[in-house]
Amino acid sequence: MQITIPIGSSKDFSGLSRQQTITIGAVMFLAFLIPLCCLFFFHSVIMLIAVLLVCIGWTLFAVLWVYSHISRYAQKISKAQQLTRRFQNISKYFESIMQDSTDIIFSVDTDGFILKFNKGAQIHFGYSQEEIVGKPLAYLFVNDTDERKILSAVLLSGKSVNEEIPMKTRSGNVILLNLSMSEMKNDNNQIIGLVVTAKDITEKKKLEMELVKKNELLGKLAITDSLTELYNSRHFHDQIKRELSRMRRNPGRKLSLILLDIDHFKQLNDTEGHQMGDHVLRSLGQVVKVCIRKDVDLGFRYGGDEFVIMLPDTDKAQAKVVAERIQKQFSAFKFGNTGLSMGIAEAFPDEDEQSLIKRADEAMYRSKKEGRSRLTMA
Ligand code: GH3
Ligand code: MG
Repeated sequence: MQITIPIGSSKDFSGLSRQQTITIGAVMFLAFLIPLCCLFFFHSVIMLIAVLLVCIGWTLFAVLWVYSHISRYAQKISKAQQLTRRFQNISKYFESIMQDSTDIIFSVDTDGFILKFNKGAQIHFGYSQEEIVGKPLAYLFVNDTDERKILSAVLLSGKSVNEEIPMKTRSGNVILLNLSMSEMKNDNNQIIGLVVTAKDITEKKKLEMELVKKNELLGKLAITDSLTELYNSRHFHDQIKRELSRMRRNPGRKLSLILLDIDHFKQLNDTEGHQMGDHVLRSLGQVVKVCIRKDVDLGFRYGGDEFVIMLPDTDKAQAKVVAERIQKQFSAFKFGNTGLSMGIAEAFPDEDEQSLIKRADEAMYRSKKEGRSRLTMA
């Protein structure tokens, strides 16, 4: 806010400017000096009268001049008093705004003791002004390190500090505040403490976190098969592309795929019901999850009763061990006539996605053709 204070005109009480006053003074002085010289040199009475008149005029001018200066100084003094009063009113106005603001504002001395605590601070922290003034700042901090950090940052460096800091209320609740702290100086430019203004961002932060979690969940749902909780086929195509391009950059790397399809699943669905079919698919999802390396191998529901497992850094012999483990675990459930037909393919260097999947698929169909419930290496 800019406050404009009207400044008095450069004209004095007589209504003349400083320059006009000097000019008139100089003319009158000459008017006095010239007749005086004439009187001295020519001894004329008329001149004497003229000198007297000029003297009277000069005296009047002198009185006027002195009066105008006195009145100007009086004006200056009254203006200064007016300004002081106005400044005091403005200070009081700002003080009341600060005191009544619902934003948190408080001040602290250089030893960290609370000096002032406005209404916003009282509402958010639950302390009354009387209860908290004079208490150490530590009353409000959850971590002592935060208090030391901000005090030293502001008081030693003299810089304003802006930080998100957890603080505790009178009832022991933790609130997250966005604190902005700056030094407070006296008339001699000495630091006498710091002023803290803060916003309660607890709710905002909570909503942000919820949004992040929801976005994470949405992202996860977009790549997850809801029935088996394995990844879906869209994610498989993304991942296989990534893994094959990684292989191209590091030719020493290996990658194997296991493609499997449940045998006689349709029959189970028809005899035991769709619900039972779903249960079998979910169980196979769990079997796949427990039989592969966590965070290394990835299991996907490829579609219907078909699954695919991606095994990075794994050759086909190692993949066979994993496939046998899955087959053994699944057959332990004894779901009707079901079994697993599997095809295993190890990626060739520079092989593309379609070719690798096709080889694994062909191997799986060979398992079907050769009597089901078996695995075939591509
Ligand atoms: P095969 O031995 O040759 O694999 O024959 P299959 O009986 O397993 O039949 P196939 O693989 O050709 O068909 C898979 C069946 O899986 C067809 C479909 O009704 C069923 N299916 C696909 N998705 C679901 C599902 O989400 N839930 C259930 N319960 N059944 C499903
Ligand atoms: Mg099948």
